[in-house]
Amino acid sequence: MSTRLFERVALIGFGLIGSSLARVLRRDSPQTVIVACARSAETLETVRRLGLADETSADPASAVVGADLVVIATPLSAYGEIARRIAPALREGAIVTDVGSVKGAAIAALRPELPSRVHFVPGHPVAGTEHSGPEAGFAELFQDRWATMEAERHDKVLAVTSHLPHLIAYTIVGTATELGQDLQSEVVAFSAGGFRDFTRIAASDPVMWRDIFLENREAVLELLQRFSEDLTALQRAIRRGDGETLHKWFTRTRAIRRSIIEAKQA
Ligand code: NAP
Repeated sequence: MSTRLFERVALIGFGLIGSSLARVLRRDSPQTVIVACARSAETLETVRRLGLADETSADPASAVVGADLVVIATPLSAYGEIARRIAPALREGAIVTDVGSVKGAAIAALRPELPSRVHFVPGHPVAGTEHSGPEAGFAELFQDRWATMEAERHDKVLAVTSHLPHLIAYTIVGTATELGQDLQSEVVAFSAGGFRDFTRIAASDPVMWRDIFLENREAVLELLQRFSEDLTALQRAIRRGDGETLHKWFTRTRAIRRSIIEAKQA
């Protein structure tokens, strides 16, 4: 049975996340009017071709007029300017939310700009892929994903579960691209041994990830310090031929994998 939670939803930024939300609305709330907002004519044309919105606009201020729900789904660095532009046009009582991957910075950019007549509810769908743009979205993206957390805690947890792994993947793949040309072609041909999984993560959107590292600087740097210490400990164990330390370490990490599978987040 379909419901209509919202009459008019403005999605500011219509990439992987914005277009996935539109697909959920189309599926579960077909009477809701969807307004898509993106910068480029090309993205807006794709949205029209896919039939994912009832209206399209390149201007955030006109997109939010009359909307009872506004979702900001652009890279974090665009938040401040978007908030300033939409603020005068927001309807009284509207819910304004966002999907940004760093909550402290998202709140700092949005809250001071938004008028008191709207309800601001920061959000982060802890779900995603390495693909970008309106064609990459799909309605099932948010299924079985959840998160209710204080902003500061969120940014620390996500530094561990998402940000550091991306940094490591960007580093490993970057290191491989520095290798000589002959070695590089073999790396591509024989990439199955772990490297391939890193290349998937390291293919994630450069703008989005640049913004995440700049905006969650403190939590990432603190974690990186601990990571470097642990890496040095493993380096020492390898150099000393200390198999016991390595075995203990790898046994402990296996248990984490099991608990993720049990939590149905694998
Ligand atoms: P995306 O696929 O790259 O789409 C970004 C959208 O924002 C595009 O429609 C783009 O318009 C628009 N945009 C970019 N810069 C803009 C600007 N300066 N002003 C107005 N619009 C602008 O991005 P995404 O993956 O959906 O990510 C969007 C947000 O979701 C980010 O804040 C990210 O942190 C968060 N998030 C992402 C994931 C993930 O796995 N991807 C997961 C959870 C949360 P054009 O196409 O016209 O340039």
